Amino acid sequence: MDCLFCAIAKGEIPSTKVYEDEFCYAFKDIHPQAPVHTLVIPKAHIPSADAVSEENSATVARIFEAIPKIAKLEGLKNGYRLISNVGEDGCQSVGHLHFHILGGKKLPEQMS
Ligand code: 5GP
Ligand code: ZN
Repeated sequence: MDCLFCAIAKGEIPSTKVYEDEFCYAFKDIHPQAPVHTLVIPKAHIPSADAVSEENSATVARIFEAIPKIAKLEGLKNGYRLISNVGEDGCQSVGHLHFHILGGKKLPEQMS
């Protein structure tokens, strides 16, 4: 399967690592939209949040356990925004589940 984020998780495509454990990998977004813009992905391929199921939700839970650790590593003491775009209307551009962690400044209230 040809998946950009699977290749990044395997180290086949270089990225700036922020955090890694058995289940997930976090790295800097290549086009940051805030002073901190980090992506968190499962190492196993899950297409999007819309594909989360009983079979893979334990991995998603591990990602959510990692997120506060990543926020701490990134120095996000005053909060952050967590986003997962889904499908065409959600403007998902990479078909591998990922969570954007955005912060390092007061973000706009408007979300859409
Ligand atoms: P989406 O639009 O699917 O929610 O988010 C995909 C994100 O992946 C975008 O913010 C984009 O900048 C980032 N991205 C796309 N290709 C690469 C890449 O090769 N390396 C890194 N580090 N980020 C990427
Ligand atoms: Zn993948």
